Amino acid sequence: MPKIKDITYLLQKVAPLSYQESYDNSGLQTGNPDEEVTGVLLTLDCTPAVIEEAINHKCNLIIAHHPVIFKPLKKLTGSNDVERVIITAIQHQIAIYSCHTNLDNVLPGVNARIADKLGLINKKILSPKSNDLIKLVTFAPLENTTAVLSALYAAGAGQIGDYKNCSFRTAGMGSFTPSIHAKPYIGEANKPEIVKECRMEVIFPENLKAQVVTALLSAHPYEEVAYDLYRLENTNQEVGAGMLGELPKAMPANEFISYLKEKMELNLVRHTNILAKPIRRIAVCGGAGSFLIKDAMKQQADVFITADLKYHDFFSAEDKIILADIGHYESEVFTKELFYDIIINNFTNFTVLKSKVNTNPVRYT
Ligand SMILES: [Zn+2]
Repeated sequence: MPKIKDITYLLQKVAPLSYQESYDNSGLQTGNPDEEVTGVLLTLDCTPAVIEEAINHKCNLIIAHHPVIFKPLKKLTGSNDVERVIITAIQHQIAIYSCHTNLDNVLPGVNARIADKLGLINKKILSPKSNDLIKLVTFAPLENTTAVLSALYAAGAGQIGDYKNCSFRTAGMGSFTPSIHAKPYIGEANKPEIVKECRMEVIFPENLKAQVVTALLSAHPYEEVAYDLYRLENTNQEVGAGMLGELPKAMPANEFISYLKEKMELNLVRHTNILAKPIRRIAVCGGAGSFLIKDAMKQQADVFITADLKYHDFFSAEDKIILADIGHYESEVFTKELFYDIIINNFTNFTVLKSKVNTNPVRYT
């Protein structure tokens, strides 16, 4: 049977924890990662009713989008729902794992699921992350170039958009003089050496740094491997907040609002003025997305679909864009399906359930 850590490792491959926002608390919150999985329950929020559901279905792993422990806890006395959930989880040896803003910030994440629900094409990150990419430059004897590059590619380096195995190589001369303590691959002690070498350059996202450097050191023939790591200011188009996409065919704005309600299963939408311009270009951000209004406008989106907009946020539309608040729960409830697909595509030997509890604390009357 797979262990809890096998499932969380899989989720971290899709949504590395290093991509969570600084205020977030994604990751394993309760439980022993070495326990075998008896069943997995998927939810947006981990409430007392969800814990009961996990117990009833003998699931010892709950995967929640929102972290149940968000603010630091100073006591565990069961005085509120969060404390009661934690206590019950520990008593029943239930692991709770949260995959929150790190799942918001990856290309196949929460926002891609919303975009897919709306049938959008040409999807890309609305506000790509900068300072995430690292360039590795290393030098090896010409005959070792292929082996070194293959190891770097296998570790995840050299991926640019839809292209893999990307590198740049230049031939040159490397020089060194081994000391009497060295065990050189080429040359001998105290004798200056000049070797025909290849300079190789590849890029990778920061979360792969440890594995890329390890791969380099194990594939490179030299005792002392010369390499440089440069942090790049370039944005990483695969990582960041929100998503931009297009409808295959433009539709009138009032028609689009009905389409939005149908596809996202909404009872109501709070939105700004319906504009005469047809809707084609669409920005989305699951959960609280007011911080992306400017980006959506800069990208000339016809509509920005998000949640938790305040009264004054709506003024910023200025009849240039339609801002549509569809509700926090409603915008993210399909994240359960996203978790389900990730797990089911990789494991089949335990139960994976989407919670039937409606955890939305907001009621519409
Ligand atoms: Zn949320």
